[in-house]
Amino acid sequence: MNFELTPKQKQVYETVGEISRTVFKANAAKHDVEASTPRENLRALFDAGLNGITISERMGGMGSGTAGEDPLLYLLAVEQTARGDMSTAQCFHIHCHGAHYVDQIGTDEQRERVLKPVLEQGTLLNATGSEPGRTSRGAYNLITAAEPTDGGYILNGVKNYATLGADVSYNLIFAGVKGMAGSDGHLGILVPQDAKGFSVIQESWNPIGMRGAHSPSFKLDNCFVDKSNALGELGIYPRERWQARFHLSFAAQYLGGAEAIFDLLCEYLPKRGTASDSYTQLRLGEIRVGTDSVRWLIYRAAWMWKNSDREQAELFSMCAKHRAIENAVMAMDKGAQIAGSSAFWADSPMSRLFRDLRIHTLHENLDKTASTLGKFYLGEPYDTTARL
Ligand SMILES: Cc1cc2nc3c(=O)[nH]c(=O)nc-3n(C[C@H](O)[C@H](O)[C@H](O)COP(=O)(O)OP(=O)(O)OC[C@H]3O[C@@H](n4cnc5c(N)ncnc54)[C@H](O)[C@@H]3O)c2cc1C
Repeated sequence: MNFELTPKQKQVYETVGEISRTVFKANAAKHDVEASTPRENLRALFDAGLNGITISERMGGMGSGTAGEDPLLYLLAVEQTARGDMSTAQCFHIHCHGAHYVDQIGTDEQRERVLKPVLEQGTLLNATGSEPGRTSRGAYNLITAAEPTDGGYILNGVKNYATLGADVSYNLIFAGVKGMAGSDGHLGILVPQDAKGFSVIQESWNPIGMRGAHSPSFKLDNCFVDKSNALGELGIYPRERWQARFHLSFAAQYLGGAEAIFDLLCEYLPKRGTASDSYTQLRLGEIRVGTDSVRWLIYRAAWMWKNSDREQAELFSMCAKHRAIENAVMAMDKGAQIAGSSAFWADSPMSRLFRDLRIHTLHENLDKTASTLGKFYLGEPYDTTARL
């Protein structure tokens, strides 16, 4: 394994780092107050040519994503985005997720119709499986129902946590085909933003953190969607373990968040006059060790998607994600101890970052992740897409 980034990877890392420091950081407070989508940040990523980073090169994209030629490339962009603003990173991650799925699963017609505007005009995509009560029912036991009808499906139900739900050209949603159980009837379908019967539920996004990753609930009320928008065969998402392809871009977000804590501490502690304190030095060093360890787990896991057995890549990605969550929580804990309470005035960048990380580390379930690895090593049945 080569530990050097390629020239293209270096360029993406530096370009996004620069935008993150100058644009995302500056806009973060506004979107946190408003709980609004950081559209200008996403536009800046488009202007830098990165909107199609997980779309294949033959379509005009950059060929990243876990099924792509260069799995690490988009993770570097997600990490650097999170370093400036966690909410923008979640928006970018979900867009990359949706675009990669359409690129890999879609037909030529769907790729042309849905992905060309992404590449040429900066339109956005997402992916929403979440719905109220799903955690206890199991990820693929969806209540949102798709009833087959002449030429398409009639959709009914409520989805929640739809990042970019009000901003995308198409909401990629998952629903259960009426009369078919769980994974067998699992349907991925692109719902056009202006589809009749689709409506975003106003003021349904008001968490304490990740406020700029505007993720409202929406309603599907006898919403007809043409069959040309159905993606792949029924059940393909669970059967081909697509959710496992996204462990690493969550990990990259947590890594970027930990780096952001480290950046803030390096700036703040000398000003506060505590840089010469041995406990301050010790805690900061511990955050560095943890964060660098996580970085190399993620980068190795990305390498495995291209160079090793698929299942091993999935399992190692879960290791990386688990450590990335634990490290982010550790960095918050030790970082808070050495920063002290004055660093946490309500409108401070440190407060926002902590609120963001507290909410976002709940997005992926730490315990489920570790117990899935335990099952594998004990020879028990396991599912690498189990994450809630
Ligand atoms: C910022 C953010 C953005 C998101 N964006 C998206 C998106 O774009 N698309 C999408 O699909 N989803 C998205 N999600 C949602 C995510 O996928 C989950 O659906 C959501 O976090 C579930 O939250 P919850 O509080 O309902 O339950 P969870 O956080 O899943 O569960 C709450 C607690 O209950 C426990 N628990 C769960 N089941 C049981 C059980 N049977 N018995 C006992 N305990 C149980 C869990 O261990 C956990 O501790 C987003 C989440 C966040 C935080």
